[in-house]
Amino acid sequence: MKSSKFYQFSKRKKVRINKEKCIGCGNCTFIYPEMFYLDEDGKSAVKKVEKINEQKLTAAKNSCPVEAIEIEDQF
Ligand code: SF4
Repeated sequence: MKSSKFYQFSKRKKVRINKEKCIGCGNCTFIYPEMFYLDEDGKSAVKKVEKINEQKLTAAKNSCPVEAIEIEDQF
């Protein structure tokens, strides 16, 4: 399955886009442009950010119509 690699933001949090699912609607890039952008393939990709804005990340994830934003929390 084609997915962008996980971006590790802290010891326990990783975010990635499932490229198979992403339809390039741009919702996530609109809500959280500091983290998400549309890549050359027309699908979302993740940028490194200094500090995650949890509220925006959650809003972006919830805005995705195809649940392509995957967040991994390791405790
Ligand atoms: S909201 Fe979902 S489908 Fe739309 S660009 Fe972002 S990851 Fe892709």
